[in-house]
Amino acid sequence: MSLLVVGSIAFDSIKTPDTSIEDTLGGSSVYFCLAAGFFAPVRLVGVVGEDFPKEHIRMLEERGIDASGLEVVEGGETFRWSGEYFENMNKRETLSVSLNVLEDFEPKIPDNFRDSEFVFLANAAPSTQLSVLDQVENPKFVMADTMDLWIQTQQADLKDLFKKIDGVVINDDEALLLTDTRNIIEAGKRILDMGPHRVVVKKGEHGALLFTHEKVIPLPAYPLHDVRDPTGAGDSFAGGLMGTLARAGEAEEGNFKGALANAVVVSSYCCEDFGVTRLQRTTSADISRRFEDYKGLLTI
Ligand code: AMP
Repeated sequence: MSLLVVGSIAFDSIKTPDTSIEDTLGGSSVYFCLAAGFFAPVRLVGVVGEDFPKEHIRMLEERGIDASGLEVVEGGETFRWSGEYFENMNKRETLSVSLNVLEDFEPKIPDNFRDSEFVFLANAAPSTQLSVLDQVENPKFVMADTMDLWIQTQQADLKDLFKKIDGVVINDDEALLLTDTRNIIEAGKRILDMGPHRVVVKKGEHGALLFTHEKVIPLPAYPLHDVRDPTGAGDSFAGGLMGTLARAGEAEEGNFKGALANAVVVSSYCCEDFGVTRLQRTTSADISRRFEDYKGLLTI
C-alpha cells in the first residue's frame, strides 16, 4: 500500500571520536526512504536547493522512491546540519544548523500522493506536520517523529497533532521532557493519553519500547560490535517500521511486532558506517538474514 514521507533532505557533517565527514547526503526523509524502500515503494515530499546533486535523486529513484514531490528551489541552498558524537555514541551534540530552503518550506502534497494510506511525518515543526495532515485524504495510519526543540517551543501544536495521528516515535529523553516525568513507562503511558494508540520510545543502543493501551513491549537493539555513526538510526528505524506496515497494508498488533523487528534490523545496518553509505550497500538478503538472527535472539 502507498507510503508517503515528508521530511528533511540534507547535507550532513558528522564528527565521531575516530572520523569526521563533511557534506554527506542525509536528512530525516532520506534515511527513512532508504530503510522503508526495502519493504515498500515510498513517495517522498521535501525540498532541496539548486546545489543538490541529481545523482542523489537518481539513487533514490533506483530504489523505488517516487521523488516527483521533491521541490528544487532555484538559487536556493540545501538544508545543512552538523553534529558530533563523543565517547558515548548514544549522545550527540548538534554543532550547527543552516535551514536554508527549509526555512520557508510549505510542503505541497502532489494530487497523486493525497490518497496515501500510510504517512510518516518526519521531524519538522508541528505546524508543518499538521499542514501535511490536512492535505492527505483518508490515511489509514499516520505516524510522526518530533524533537526537543518543538517540545520546548510549539508544545500546543504538537499536542494538537498527537490528537489526530495514530502513532508516535520519540527518543527516551524527549518522551521524558514532553511528559515532565522521570519514569519512561509513565512517559509512554502519558503520550498514549495524548491521542496516539501506538507509541514507540527509542532508547538508542538499549532498544525500544512499544506502548499500546493494552501492554508495554520491550525490544532490545541488535547487538553491534562496531557503531561507526548512529546518525539516521531513528529515521531508518521509522522507515523499517512504516515500510513493513505499508507492505502488510495494516497496522494491527500482530504486524506491529514484526515491523518493529525490521525497524531494529534496518537501523542496526545504518549505524555500521557513516551517513547513508551502509544502507546503500545493504541488500534485502542482508535484512532477511539479520531478521532471522534477531528473531533467534528473542526466543526464550
Ligand atoms: P536521527 O539521527 O535519526 O535523529 O536523524 C538525523 C538526521 O536528521 C540528519 O540527517 C539531519 O540532517 C536531520 N536533522 C537534524 N536536525 C534536523 C531538523 N531540525 N529538522 C529536520 N531534520 C533534521
